Formats: sequence, C-alpha cells, structure tokens
Amino acid sequence: MTPNIRSKLPKIRTTIFTTVGNLARKHKAIDLSQGFPDFEVDTSLIALVNQAMENGHNQYSPMQGLLELREVLSHKIKKLHKKYYDPISEITVVAGATQAIFTSITAFVHPGDEVIVLKPAYDCYEPAIKVNGGVPVHVSLEAPCYQIDWEFFKTKISSKTRMVIINTPHNPVGRIFSKKDMLQLQEILSDTNIILLSDEVYEHLIFDGEQHQSASRFPDLASRSIICSSFGKTFHVTGWKIGYCVAPKELMQEFQKVHQFNVFCAPRPVQHALATYLKTESHYLNLGAFYQQKRDFFLNAIKDSRFTFMPSQGSFFQLLDYSKITDERDDEFVKRLIVEHQIASIPVSEFNLNDRNDHMLRFCFAKKEETLRKAATILNGL
Ligand code: PMP
Ligand code: GLN
Repeated sequence: MTPNIRSKLPKIRTTIFTTVGNLARKHKAIDLSQGFPDFEVDTSLIALVNQAMENGHNQYSPMQGLLELREVLSHKIKKLHKKYYDPISEITVVAGATQAIFTSITAFVHPGDEVIVLKPAYDCYEPAIKVNGGVPVHVSLEAPCYQIDWEFFKTKISSKTRMVIINTPHNPVGRIFSKKDMLQLQEILSDTNIILLSDEVYEHLIFDGEQHQSASRFPDLASRSIICSSFGKTFHVTGWKIGYCVAPKELMQEFQKVHQFNVFCAPRPVQHALATYLKTESHYLNLGAFYQQKRDFFLNAIKDSRFTFMPSQGSFFQLLDYSKITDERDDEFVKRLIVEHQIASIPVSEFNLNDRNDHMLRFCFAKKEETLRKAATILNGL
C-alpha cells in the first residue's frame, strides 16, 4: 500500500526549466529558455578531464575538494578581490551551486528562522528554505529597473532574520549590485547575527566595463558571507555540475558538516582538470567581453522588433518587455510562442512573482550567432 504522504513542498511543481525545455523539444523550437550554452567547450579542458580519468583519478576526492584546486581558487580570489581565503579551512568544492545553496540553507536555517529573498529570485532558494522549516520574507524588485530600495529592505529585518540571499549578477533580470549597493548592505547588516548567502555564479559575466562587486571585497560582509560560484557558467559546462563556495572558517565548518552527508565530494576527474586549467588559462578574464558581444548581437538583431529592453548588465540572460505585443500572462505567452512560433523563453513570473505579471520574458543569449539570428527573425515577426 502506498503510504499517505505529507508533502514538505505541497505547492512545488516540476521546474519551469524542465517543463519549458520539454515543450520546446516537442515543438522543435529555438530554445533560449534554460540557461546553457549551445557552443562547444574548450577541447583542451575536455582533454584534461580525459587525461585525469586515464591517469586513474577516478575515486573520491577529499571531502572539501582537491587541495590543489582549492589553492588555485584561493589565489584567483586574492588576485581579483584582494581577499585571502585559506584553502585548508575556508574553501569547499561543491557539486554545483545548487548544492552549495541547499547545503548552506540546511546548515544555518532553523525552523521558524526568516530568510530575506529578493523577488524575482532564482528558483532554488525558496524550496530549500521551506524544506528546512524556514520562512521566506520577500523584498520586491520592481520592473523595469529591478533596483533595490534599501530603506524598504531594512524594514524587513526582524529578530528572526537568520539569512539574506543576494544574487549578483542577477538571474533572471541581468542587473548587478553596485559598490554603493554592497556598502549599504554591509552597513545594514553590521552589528547583526545575519548570515549573507551571496550567489555569485555569474561573477565573470559582467558587461560595459563594470566590475563584479563580490561580497568578498567588503570586510564586514565577507565575515558573514558564504559565497557560491559555479564552474558550469564560467567554463561553458553546466552539465558537469561543479562549483565552489568560500566562507570564513567558522561558517565553513558548519557548511562542511552538512556537505559531507549531502554529497561528500564533487566529481574528482573534473577537479584535477580544472586545477590544471586554471593554473595556465585565465580565459575567465575575457568572458565578459565574449558574452557582451553575444548580448549586443542579439539586441541589435531585435532592435526593430516590438519588444523593449534595458541591456543586461551581467549573466547570460536578457529580459524583453512584451507589453507592446500582448496583454497575455507571461506563462501563457511563453507557451503560445513555443507552440505557434517555435521560440522558447522563460516567463519571469516563475521566479517567485506568483500572480504579478511584469510582461517580461527571459531569453538566454549563451548561443551561437546562428541560433541568435534565427531567434531574432522569429521575434521580429511578432
Ligand atoms: N544560482 C543561479 C542564479 C543560477 O542561475 C544557477 C543556474 N544554474 C545556479 C545558482 C545553480 O548553478 P549550478 O548549475 O552550478 O548548480
Ligand atoms: N540556472 C539555469 C537557468 O536559470 C537553470 C538550471 C536548472 O535547470 N536548474 O536557466
């Protein structure tokens, strides 16, 4: 007999990335929905993974990740943000940022604790908070600029606030936090016991000469932050599910208590490959220019369409406002675009907006020019 189940996530359905992706495949749509590149990975990185496997690096890595990789990461963060993280005690290699986020929330959020989430928000935060008995507290970012009102944010902090989650560059809106934003956040959180979970998976995808304002650059923020990053985005390998997170050792110790029972360790051959690759290649330094060119190609190709937009400042996503085309709900419009026009995108309401309709769709421009050109032809005809 099937037992009665009391769901921990009664309102959660299969993610939009899965449902839209399936629909896109069924209708042979150009797929700019889920965020992943459709171009090839550097063959030398693939060769390094093969080599690691052939050299016999096929068993568990240390729980925290290969020390060699953690050392390279420590060096990279020091170079970019002038902050030293001890590779022995303050860095963990994870099986993707999703795992790092789930592990962090599980390690620190107790039942009844409040977690401040900025809406729209990446989809994995809220379920992780709820599974752990936490209470999401929302701060809305309003279209079309999606800027944060720090005075309003302040009013949401209570004696129960355990954690704040930020995401810069931001998925889905493509906005970045400025230095001023980070300083304000630092000021608001100072003298509190609040932990900052800083989702920085698009750290290297920043455009127009801006710099990534990592939480690690701000001493008081860094002292309370777990910073998550994903190699999937940086090396065009979203399917490898590997990333890292850094935090002061007291926080990292607690993180690892959960991590060791959550996955124990990330895939070993890939860690060997990335350690070697990161020592010789600084390709991530050119990643902003690489993706800026794709953003500009896409936006130029649709400049005469009826969509309106503010160019993405970071990430590989671009929001397009469709209010001049239709008044439909964004999820309905997305379905119709796939079925009738063979183009797939993500409705922004899926990022925790519930019934709010910003008339915005998210398009992933991590694609070959040929794919972006075909997409633009369809979008221009709407
Ligand atoms: N955070 C954000 C904002 C993301 O867009 C993603 C996308 N994949 C993740 C976390 C998860 O990264 P990973 O694929 O490494 O689990
Ligand atoms: N981060 C990807 C996106 O936003 C999705 C990854 C996933 O499907 N969980 O498109």
